Amino acid sequence: MLGTASQVPTRHRNHNGYLLRWDDEGLLFDPGEGTQRQMLLAGVPVSAVTRLCLTHFHGDHCLGVPGIVQRLSLDAVQHPVPAYFPASGQDFFARLRHACLFYDLADVPERPVAADGPVATGAFGVLEARTLDHSVDTIGYRLTEPDGRRFVPELLARHGITGPAVGQLQLTGSIEIDGRLVGLPEVSEPRRGQRFAFVMDTRLCDAVYALADDADLLVIESTFLNEDAELASRYGHLTARQAACVAAACGVRRLVLTHFSQRYPDSRRYRDQAAEVFDGDLVVAEDLARIPVPRSR
Ligand SMILES: [Zn+2]
Repeated sequence: MLGTASQVPTRHRNHNGYLLRWDDEGLLFDPGEGTQRQMLLAGVPVSAVTRLCLTHFHGDHCLGVPGIVQRLSLDAVQHPVPAYFPASGQDFFARLRHACLFYDLADVPERPVAADGPVATGAFGVLEARTLDHSVDTIGYRLTEPDGRRFVPELLARHGITGPAVGQLQLTGSIEIDGRLVGLPEVSEPRRGQRFAFVMDTRLCDAVYALADDADLLVIESTFLNEDAELASRYGHLTARQAACVAAACGVRRLVLTHFSQRYPDSRRYRDQAAEVFDGDLVVAEDLARIPVPRSR
């Protein structure tokens, strides 16, 4: 959690910024102002970023792009960092990408998102986007890892498979032990791929539920508290209670609330109002917190 404030930073909360570390990938979502320095404080180098995912072009979600791009260049990061964003904001992205003078070495392929669906696939799984309901074009993201298999230690032991033989079996799918061929299915069980969802500025809409469905980790905006539900709806935002209702309806395992309005001095109230409708694992995000993706089931 690089930043957890909506609209304006506070003394305790930076503008948005979220880095999802996912095997070899580092997906940087919505870097607001100051994200470069927040990464320093978090101890993450900019080379950890492999993809840049923007939900929309309000400043609290994108004014950190120039700093990140220029730091990619300064640090001579060799890998490309594709950038995803709503297609209607192409001009805004171009301005952020080329905001001012620097020796430009960064490789940032532009991937404008014009329709719902997958935007990237790879060893990490599938990254998809869906249109949300905010005051400007906004998309949410969902990352789905492919299902796989996991070794069962007791079954490995029963077949006498240990040490490097385990790696060999993983690589080739079968291995010969004492003249008998043992296949992967005999010593492993199905492992469901993990799912992550990122839902920023939006009113409640079908896409919120589709993104959050069965997510292991849901990071979702909860700008307002109950008493300001009318404001939330007017400005295209969620309340903590609405975000928690989504999590409950979608079977979310770990719910992370963020994007807090500076109008409320006590963030415990977000937790209280969310906990009324969601009895699962609930995190009210703080800047620089590290929140694990729950282990796959
Ligand atoms: Zn926002």
